[in-house]
Amino acid sequence: MKLLVTGGSGLVGSALKRIKEKFPKYEFFFISSQDYNLENFKDTIKMFDNIQPDFVIHLAACVGGLFKNMNYKVDMLEKNMMINYNVLKCCHDYQVKKCISCLSTCIFPDKTNYPINEKMLHNGAPHTSNDAYAYAKRMLEIHSKAYQEQYNDNFICVIPTNIYGPNDNYHLEDAHVIPALIHKCYLSKKSGEKFIVKGTGKPLRQFIYSEDLAELFMWVLEKYNQKESVILSVSEKEEVSIKYVAEQIAKCFNYQHMIEFDSSFSDGQYKKTADNSKLKNLHGEYNFISIEEGIKKSVNWFNSNYKICRK
Ligand code: NAP
Ligand code: GDP
Repeated sequence: MKLLVTGGSGLVGSALKRIKEKFPKYEFFFISSQDYNLENFKDTIKMFDNIQPDFVIHLAACVGGLFKNMNYKVDMLEKNMMINYNVLKCCHDYQVKKCISCLSTCIFPDKTNYPINEKMLHNGAPHTSNDAYAYAKRMLEIHSKAYQEQYNDNFICVIPTNIYGPNDNYHLEDAHVIPALIHKCYLSKKSGEKFIVKGTGKPLRQFIYSEDLAELFMWVLEKYNQKESVILSVSEKEEVSIKYVAEQIAKCFNYQHMIEFDSSFSDGQYKKTADNSKLKNLHGEYNFISIEEGIKKSVNWFNSNYKICRK
């Protein structure tokens, strides 16, 4: 059975690569933008023609942290709309048996009740900082549902929280908070300068380690048979502040005494606490790696791969 993973070179795609031996019944195809540009419909058709996949895990996207979302709204909207349109259309035309696409808890309404659950996605405007990305991603859910309803296609979406792990994007301005801070702390320690964390450090986030998420993707592929989206998240109790995350990163570099918060930068959304009870009810308790352990692993990976990592 052929399993095509778009975005196969990214944070989540590379985590799937590392666990793929546990799933020998699939022939995996990990695709990057170097193989096919999925913003281009002809290229996307070529990929489906060449691979003829039975299943698709659709991860490819124009992705970034708060500051990339604020600074590149046209890219976040257009690139994601084009990629998603092309991939879903080909999944239908090539009769893919199941397509799992990836949303994010950051696309939920800004003004909402907590914890957020799967039914609340369209109940209000997203936070203005990432509205372009959020609406493009919301359309992916609408698009998948339209294929379910008109053609009975098995196209579904999963909704992870903030993801982190090895092989992240460590760009100093555009990355998500954990990889950006790992890179910054590394450089600060090297130069002896202060380790500057943007914002107040007060916002709260639930972080999921990329390999845990990869395992859950495979569970969704094999065991999850509902049409509605499902949130893939650690429990609400494991929500942590940006300050705590920065401290854990600094601890790995033995640089805790040098942290400083720069509140002239945006905090983004204060929190987006997600309810993982649907996952828990269907899957049973999942033994997530702790944030402390996951950060240690991520920092170790970064230190060993500094020269070759994306930054
Ligand atoms: P990532 O590390 O930035 O990887 C993005 C992947 O998409 C790469 O493999 C990239 O290929 C590929 N890609 C981008 N543009 C492409 C194009 N035009 N044609 C073909 N491939 C293209 O992203 P990630 O963090 O693994 O994210 C995976 C999924 O999770 C995304 O759908 C994202 O929206 C979602 N998500 C991420 C987070 C998070 O915190 N990271 C949170 C929630 C949801 P290249 O390597 O060649 O550039
Ligand atoms: P979000 O969860 O979608 O908002 O995305 P991020 O992973 O970018 O996390 C943003 C939160 O981390 C905000 O509260 C930022 O103020 C804070 N933060 C602190 N330093 C940084 C940094 O260097 N990069 C990013 N992306 N966020 C940072």
